[in-house]
Amino acid sequence: MAEEGGGEEYLFKIVVIGDSAVGKSNLLSRFARDEFDHNSKGTIGVEFQTQVVQVDGKEVKAQVWDSAGQERFRAVTSAYYRGAVGALIVYDITRKTTFESTKRWLDELNTHCDTAVARMLVGNKCDLDDIREVSVEEGKSLAEKEGLFFIETSALDATNVMKAFEIVIHEIYDKVSRKIL
Ligand code: GDP
Ligand code: MG
Repeated sequence: MAEEGGGEEYLFKIVVIGDSAVGKSNLLSRFARDEFDHNSKGTIGVEFQTQVVQVDGKEVKAQVWDSAGQERFRAVTSAYYRGAVGALIVYDITRKTTFESTKRWLDELNTHCDTAVARMLVGNKCDLDDIREVSVEEGKSLAEKEGLFFIETSALDATNVMKAFEIVIHEIYDKVSRKIL
C-alpha cells in the first residue's frame, strides 16, 4: 500500500501486440501523452510508457509495453510478456491480413501468459471506415469466440483509446481484487 507522498498502490503491466503498422505505438502515445505521431519513427527502442489512472478511488499505474518495431521479425521475447496482467491485441480494420494474424498473436500470448490475463481485441484506424476490410461484426464474433473484450479505436482522432485501456485496467483491477490474477 502507498505511503503518504509515496508511489502508486498498483502497478499493472499491459502488453500491446499485433502486426507491424497497425497503430500500436500511436495507441500508446495517445493513452500516455494524448499525442499522435504522424512520422511514427520515434518509438523504436522505447520499451514502455506509463499513465496513472484512478480505479475505485485507488491510484493504478498502467505500464504499457510497446514491441518497439521488433514485431516484423517476430523476435518478441518472453521478457516482453513476463509479468503482464493485461494485453491489447491490435489489428488494422483496413488490412484483413492483420486481422487474420491476431490468431497467431493470441497463440503467442497464450504460450507466455496465464489465461487469466485480461485481453482485449482492438480494431484500430476506425477513422478509415470508408476503406475498411474488416467489419465490426467480424471483430465482435472473433472476440466472442476467443473470450476477449472487443473495441474499435482510432489513435488518430482519439476515439475509444482511453476507453480501451480503461476497460482492460478495470478488468485487471477486478481480477487482482478477487485474487484471480
Ligand atoms: P505500429 O507499427 O503498430 O506501432 O504502428 P504505428 O503506431 O507506428 O502506426 C503505423 C501507421 O499507421 C503510421 O503511419 C500511423 O500514422 C498510422 N496510424 C496509426 N494509428 C492510426 C489511426 O488510428 N488512424 C489512421 N488513419 N492512421 C493510424
Ligand atoms: Mg510501433
